[in-house]
Amino acid sequence: MYLISACLLGRSCKYNGGDNYCRPVADFASRHSILEVCPEGLSGLPVPRPPAEYVGEKIMDREGKDVTGAFERGAALSLERALQEAKRRGEPVEGAILKANSPSCGSGQIYDGTFSGRLTAGYGCFAELLRRRGISIISEKEIENGQF
Ligand code: SF4
Repeated sequence: MYLISACLLGRSCKYNGGDNYCRPVADFASRHSILEVCPEGLSGLPVPRPPAEYVGEKIMDREGKDVTGAFERGAALSLERALQEAKRRGEPVEGAILKANSPSCGSGQIYDGTFSGRLTAGYGCFAELLRRRGISIISEKEIENGQF
């Protein structure tokens, strides 16, 4: 079973109420056992909501509110649900395809806290949880480039 960021499959769960639909990811999903995940959707934060980025160790929204707790709660709930679903299906979690650069789902690079579109090295809080469990993560970019 693969975990996939729900916004990549066209769910309107992005901070601004939009999605990040990615046809190659949707094609992948049609051929594999998958579970859609949206940690921010489980965080209790509304849609739409102000964009948020890591600023140091905290996740702050653009209006200056500390949303670290909500993001961490959503990430932990998402992991818990994923593990429960994997157990229910009797399948291992083989990997995750997560939206690049997000403070929840980004892997390897995330927005740098300046809300200017610049990137820095790092992992979103959900991606970091998966990484600590040894679950391999790629982004939609690797799927688009045919690297997976
Ligand atoms: S938390 Fe992840 S799945 Fe949800 S909207 Fe953000 S990038 Fe997409």
